[in-house]
Amino acid sequence: MTQTPLKLFNSLTREIETFTPVHPGEARVYSCGPTVYNYPHIGNMRAYVFADVLGRTLSWKGYDLKHVINITDVGHLTDDADAGEDKLEKAAAKSEQSIWDIAQHYTEAFKADTRALNIRAPAEWSVATDYIDAMIDFASGIADKHCYELEGGLYFDVSTVEDYALLAGRTKLDQIQEHQEAHMRIDPVKQKRSPADFAIWRKTPPGETRQMEWDSPWGRGAPGWHLECSVMGEKLLGFPFDIHTGGIDHREIHHPNEIAQNQAFCGCGGLSEATNSGAKIWMHNNFLVERSGKMSKSAGEFLRLQLLVDKGYHPLAYRMMCLQAHYRSELEFSWDGLGAALTRLKRIVIAVETFRDEAPGDPSHDSFAAIREKFTHAVSDDLNTPVALVALEDALALKKVDAGARRAIVEEMDEVLGLDLFGLDRKDLRIRPLDAQVTEHEIEADLLRRKEARLAKDFATSDAIRASLAANGVEVMDGDPLGWEWKLD
Ligand code: AMP
Ligand code: ZN
Repeated sequence: MTQTPLKLFNSLTREIETFTPVHPGEARVYSCGPTVYNYPHIGNMRAYVFADVLGRTLSWKGYDLKHVINITDVGHLTDDADAGEDKLEKAAAKSEQSIWDIAQHYTEAFKADTRALNIRAPAEWSVATDYIDAMIDFASGIADKHCYELEGGLYFDVSTVEDYALLAGRTKLDQIQEHQEAHMRIDPVKQKRSPADFAIWRKTPPGETRQMEWDSPWGRGAPGWHLECSVMGEKLLGFPFDIHTGGIDHREIHHPNEIAQNQAFCGCGGLSEATNSGAKIWMHNNFLVERSGKMSKSAGEFLRLQLLVDKGYHPLAYRMMCLQAHYRSELEFSWDGLGAALTRLKRIVIAVETFRDEAPGDPSHDSFAAIREKFTHAVSDDLNTPVALVALEDALALKKVDAGARRAIVEEMDEVLGLDLFGLDRKDLRIRPLDAQVTEHEIEADLLRRKEARLAKDFATSDAIRASLAANGVEVMDGDPLGWEWKLD
């Protein structure tokens, strides 16, 4: 839509690059999806807000977007490197439910969170277990030249490809070994030629059966996690595709291993040619962190989107919180920060309400030229959403301009930001905790009675209503500049 070139940071080259599609007019993007053994935490969801902003930006720039997000329902071990148990098998062992039911349940929960965060559905949700045959074919194709068999399964020999672990910033084998050893806290496979070698097919140990296992040329077992993403990326988008995304942890092991498999599959050389990696650009979002430490979904209690909702926050307040930080910066979660993001979103929604029903005018109206340029430059500059949000606020603050044009430009900005500014109502953004003692309907009715009492100058009654609301945790906010009439604590 706009001519400003899109610049993106490529983790592989460690440089900002201009996006030029592999297939003219198209943008093919693969995002590593969740491992569905538990609910996603809000840190995980940051990865998909980021991928969504990227996808929306590509669509806004006029590219025909093909976005794939996979669902990992097999193969991801409790340790990202080559050790531990399958996360889903482990969850199933502790549960009455079958592994398939567990995967189904958490897949649905993940999708519900994406909808709540206004993350657009990808062209394809690819489920790893639907691609087992393709994984066996892929592995058979590279086995002779790049793999060796051990008791535990088929292993990829990382010395058979050039520039292994370049993505992680490591090219010397001793550094790689040190790094991988640090990651192999449990159960290292002693016979491996290098600690960095990884299983692409794991045999079921003799005497055991797994709920998820398939026959293969290397025995009955299950695919390795890295293999899945290589195969689904190749099958659905073709090598090389444009952009591969994931959280910054994937830069260390999962993506270097995916890249090694892709190089083997293509029979291509080193990574000075980025497309030999299977994708042109590799992008990684930084982590959402808690002051108390790393966010984890294996650690029992953790921050789920539903917890934010239960405490009364609209999920889009969390999206706003993500947009306020650049995706490559670490973001610290706090309830105060979430409250501030909610207030900012509400301020914007209240401003939008004043022209929501206008017929859209011309977004390239002169009054908005400078603001539109600021927005376009920000988004095109490696998805600088913090600055893009300021441009949105500039467009709302500009005095005496054509309402239709304002509507059009704000709508255009929201195509990229995805805050659902024309669907949200200020009432949706009230803080309303799940465990509140009073219903919203009751609060509204009390506030109406209080208004009538005040009009009739019956201050004793109006004070009594206010006090009874306060006893139920409802703070009445007379004359609040943001238009909050009440809030629940
Ligand atoms: P997983 O379900 O563990 O495979 O992770 C799903 C996605 O969330 C991956 O792209 C991870 O890199 C990403 N991720 C995990 N933890 C965080 C976090 N705290 N902040 C941001 N992204 C994360
Ligand atoms: Zn992946």
